[in-house]
Amino acid sequence: MNKHSFTEKIENIEVLIGLLDLLPSPVYIKDKNHIWVAVNNAFCEFLGYPAEKLIGKSDFDYNPAEQAQVFWDADNRVLDNKEDSLDIEETTNSRGDLLWVESRKSYYETSNGEPYIIGVITDITELELQKKAALEAERKAKLASVTKSEFLANMSHEIRTPMNGIMGMAELLLNTKLTPRQTDFANTINQSGHALLTIINDILDFSKAEACQIELEQTPFHLRNCIEDVTALLASTVNDKDLDLLVRIQPDLHLSYVGDVGRVRQILTNIIGNAVKFTSEGHVLIDVDGETRNGITQLKIQVIDTGIGIAPDKLGTIFEKFSQADGSTTREYGGTGLGLSISKQLTELMGGEISVSSDLDKGTSFSISLPLEITNVITDDSKKNIDISISGSNILIIDDNSINLNILTEQLRHWKCKTIAVDSAQMGLSVLKQAFNKGIKIDLVIVDYQMPIHSGEDFYLDKQKDSDIADIPVIMLSSVDSTELRNRMGFGHISSFLSKPAKSSVLYNAIVDIIYGLDKRSIPIKSVSVKSKSDSFHSRNTDSNHVDILIAEDNEVNQKYASYVMEELGLTYVIVPNGKMAIDKWQLLSPSAILMDISMPKMNGYDATKVIRQIEKDRFLSPTPIIAVTAHSMKGDDKICLQKGMDDYLSKPLSKQSLKECLVKWGVCFDAKLQAAHKW
Ligand code: ADP
Repeated sequence: MNKHSFTEKIENIEVLIGLLDLLPSPVYIKDKNHIWVAVNNAFCEFLGYPAEKLIGKSDFDYNPAEQAQVFWDADNRVLDNKEDSLDIEETTNSRGDLLWVESRKSYYETSNGEPYIIGVITDITELELQKKAALEAERKAKLASVTKSEFLANMSHEIRTPMNGIMGMAELLLNTKLTPRQTDFANTINQSGHALLTIINDILDFSKAEACQIELEQTPFHLRNCIEDVTALLASTVNDKDLDLLVRIQPDLHLSYVGDVGRVRQILTNIIGNAVKFTSEGHVLIDVDGETRNGITQLKIQVIDTGIGIAPDKLGTIFEKFSQADGSTTREYGGTGLGLSISKQLTELMGGEISVSSDLDKGTSFSISLPLEITNVITDDSKKNIDISISGSNILIIDDNSINLNILTEQLRHWKCKTIAVDSAQMGLSVLKQAFNKGIKIDLVIVDYQMPIHSGEDFYLDKQKDSDIADIPVIMLSSVDSTELRNRMGFGHISSFLSKPAKSSVLYNAIVDIIYGLDKRSIPIKSVSVKSKSDSFHSRNTDSNHVDILIAEDNEVNQKYASYVMEELGLTYVIVPNGKMAIDKWQLLSPSAILMDISMPKMNGYDATKVIRQIEKDRFLSPTPIIAVTAHSMKGDDKICLQKGMDDYLSKPLSKQSLKECLVKWGVCFDAKLQAAHKW
């Protein structure tokens, strides 16, 4: 191109650019050598260079080579193919900022055949940054989900292992010769352990459901057995009340199904357990109907009670997590508010639905509809195993935790089995091999799943590789979901998975089934926490009508603990289960101090304190020290207690030392002899 024709073209283009300057989008024109021959104002602003610095230059003069090469290649495509292009490209401005652009390039040819590229740029930097942030967030969420599931599996193990020790040892302790007082202590440990395990299970299940990590098992089960398991568990609570627990099952209903019996039982335990909990007289009816079509029964299980009912405005929210119809501190019933939320999620996971209707003060009716596949496998095995002996069976136990090893050994010996206990998978394999070589038959191995270095899974897989010992059945004790593990291991039908801590009856059944080849898998029954009777009243009173301490506390275990502490301190005391009774007893007994729980049925600790302070004021009485004792150990709770008219604050669990210091501070006298005897 000679100088004249280039200038002439530039002049033409500049006329065009004069117009393009009016446009808000950055626009440029490049010649066939990738050189900018014209740029508009928006383009100059976008890159941060004046037009005179850009004209006659190319992308390579202003961009890192890698970026410039991308533009260059795109230009070539436009020039070679004489067609438009649209690309997302990176560029760098004069401040060194990395920018993302959507670059449209059009091929343009002058009348004398000279090719040009006309480019229009859209700045999409913000959009790209958002996209990148979203991708990063997704990556992090995936990572968090994996971490969460690992955390859950670990927590499940970490919590259940010591629970196993606590409850197992308490159970063993109860089998020894104990004084009535010791039996009482051991029973309390056991009951509290069960209650805690229920809460832990609920929280873990809830987290699993939230992380979509619940997997359903598909095994044959009998619905009547399943319901009876649940009602048997509630029998003692029902007996303590003026209550009938009724079960009606449609007579011709096929009752053997394939499904996750553990989860069905969990749902029923929660719904029936609630019905029993919230009903003090009348009945709880479990009414089962169903319709079978094409091998699927559409089950309808109704749980109808004559209890306290649910207010219409609460009915819509009770399936929400942590939701309780009565969320006040005067709550009379325990619970976490997770049960219904878990039950709903589980029912829906099984393809079913759950609904509720209720009349306040008249009763509540829950309706669960559940599609279940029918089976002809005989699963009604409720009468099984009771009289079958496993005495003389040779059982190898493998667990790295010595407490569990002891509990299992003791339990199995109680059943007259012969046991060998080892603490690692490798030792276990070597014992099996030695026994085989000596011609000793090992009937069964009980192995813990979670063990360091070589897990229960490693043990099982190694055992299966050795044809001499591959046929020996295994009971795997695991605190994680078994379905996935069983599938992964190709776990044989002769073996069984049990959740920890395994109930002794469940373990017994599993052993019988394996040894006698009955192939019944047992799933432990979830326990139900039993609420203390609200009107219990304990005292170690002197014959005068004065006591040292008035204790307002509704929880039976805490009442018991408080009474032991009081006795150790040599103090006279009276325990009442609610705020109303605290006011009555305070007027009657003029205690030296009151230990006041905050959350209590009928009247909470705050309201009781308010009434007491008002009476003291009206009658010109000197104030009784009121010490709040509460599990609400949140920051700021102490201030609230003081604002509400209390004098001091102790958080649960109560320590004897802090209680004593507190009582001394508030002028309660201790019996000197008892003090010396207990070396305070
Ligand atoms: P929790 O029982 O642990 O509080 P749930 O999720 O099982 O938690 O129940 C949530 C709430 O629904 C209960 O606190 C109670 O207020 C109400 N509720 C559930 N079942 C019944 C029932 N049968 N009768 C009355 N209220 C009920």
